[in-house]
Amino acid sequence: MPGIGPRSAERIALWMIQKTDARANEIAHAVTEAVSHVKGCVQCGFFSESDRCVICSDPARDQSLLCVVEQTTNILSLERTSAFRGLYHSLGGRLSPLDHIGPEDLRIDALVHRIREIKPQEVILALSADVEGESTANYLGDLLEKEGAQITRIAQGLPAGIGLENADELTLSRALSGRTVWSIGRITSE
Ligand code: ZN
Repeated sequence: MPGIGPRSAERIALWMIQKTDARANEIAHAVTEAVSHVKGCVQCGFFSESDRCVICSDPARDQSLLCVVEQTTNILSLERTSAFRGLYHSLGGRLSPLDHIGPEDLRIDALVHRIREIKPQEVILALSADVEGESTANYLGDLLEKEGAQITRIAQGLPAGIGLENADELTLSRALSGRTVWSIGRITSE
């Protein structure tokens, strides 16, 4: 299991077989249920027990905003912020020629289909700030240009709690070019 080393795995396994109460069986049952019932939403790719996930089937979500992410788990991270009330689309990866991952390996056809169907005003590309994320964003930008929606990218800059002295040059230059208006000063003459 990811994040669990051999020693922790041994402790967990021993804890499970030594338990005389029902908890170990409950965990085993929950894992079996999750594996057999949780699948990908046919529309956005998010985890779901039915064809459409809770986000896609929520009428309160803003249909004019579609946020494109690389991995389904990215949706969980964005949902935790409560900052976004639109819809999502998970690509299931990103373009990576070195790993032989091309457009046909990602859910890009489904993305174009979805944009034509729901006609969002804005498509937000929430992709990684690295070479593969950059090339995926460029590819999608060219492809989606003619679909009529405004294409935007999430801002890239300094992580919270990081001072300028600890940021690399690429992060700093992106933070500068992605600056936003904080306040508008006025020149007053006395
Ligand atoms: Zn969905």
